[in-house]
Amino acid sequence: MENIKRIHHISAIVGDAQENLDFYRDVLGLQLIKQTVNFDDPGVYHLYFSRQDEDKRMVMTFFNWPNQHRGRVGSGQVGRIAFRIPKGSMDAWEKHLNDKGIETKISGLFDDATLEFKDVHGLALALVEGEEVEDNAILGFHGTELLSSDPQGTRSTLIDDMGLNVVSENPSKIHLETTGEEKHQIIMAAQPLPKGLFGVGTVHHVAWSIPTEEEHLDWQKHMEDNGYFVTEVKDRHYFKAIYFKEKGDIVFEMATDGPGFAVDEPFESMGEHLQIPPQYEDRREELTQNLKPLEL
Ligand code: ZN
Repeated sequence: MENIKRIHHISAIVGDAQENLDFYRDVLGLQLIKQTVNFDDPGVYHLYFSRQDEDKRMVMTFFNWPNQHRGRVGSGQVGRIAFRIPKGSMDAWEKHLNDKGIETKISGLFDDATLEFKDVHGLALALVEGEEVEDNAILGFHGTELLSSDPQGTRSTLIDDMGLNVVSENPSKIHLETTGEEKHQIIMAAQPLPKGLFGVGTVHHVAWSIPTEEEHLDWQKHMEDNGYFVTEVKDRHYFKAIYFKEKGDIVFEMATDGPGFAVDEPFESMGEHLQIPPQYEDRREELTQNLKPLEL
């Protein structure tokens, strides 16, 4: 069993699906790669976004709950999500976001210049520069902030049980990274915030990539042996998933890389049609009628 190499996906709770699509497609330039329903609550959309090109390893997913109350960002949650942009593109991104009427702020949250802003539903995002490439498109996740209720506990989960590495530590901040080539950056304040409340504008969980189903079962056992309450393996159609709360109350998922998002529609037209998972096939008509079609 190898150390955790990268983030598989991050899932956040937001509002209206069309507004969500308009923001991530038109403002951030991502591609809608899957429109499906929430597997645990099939009356609402679950939208998946990735890069425009063939590389679909970065996956950002949204539970679209237009009638849900606003959440409260706080401990026991994943915090600000950072995307990696090409070296030298931050000024252009800042101008682009400001031109769209989006307020931005430059901070040092990720220990490099961090362009902070919020999406259309108040979800905290950031852009951080990475390697040099030709255009300005988002390269993938840069990493994420974790709002732990027990930062030393979360540190122990990530390092001792999942094999992440320390980048730097000081009395106010813990900075870790995954061991894969993407080197996803994990930032944690050393002091916990008041407890968060899930709702629109908050992140529900972060999922870590596990290459194979065999290793997935090994990880389930490994985390159980280390005292975590781990769920059964759930079939998410595009990947297999297990969930547990880490020591600082944040929901962690471990997800297999396969079978992938082209399992129910051709790669070339991914995201163009609503996909109803097999377990809800008999309710297709009812579910489809209740969801307002997206303007693609
Ligand atoms: Zn997930």
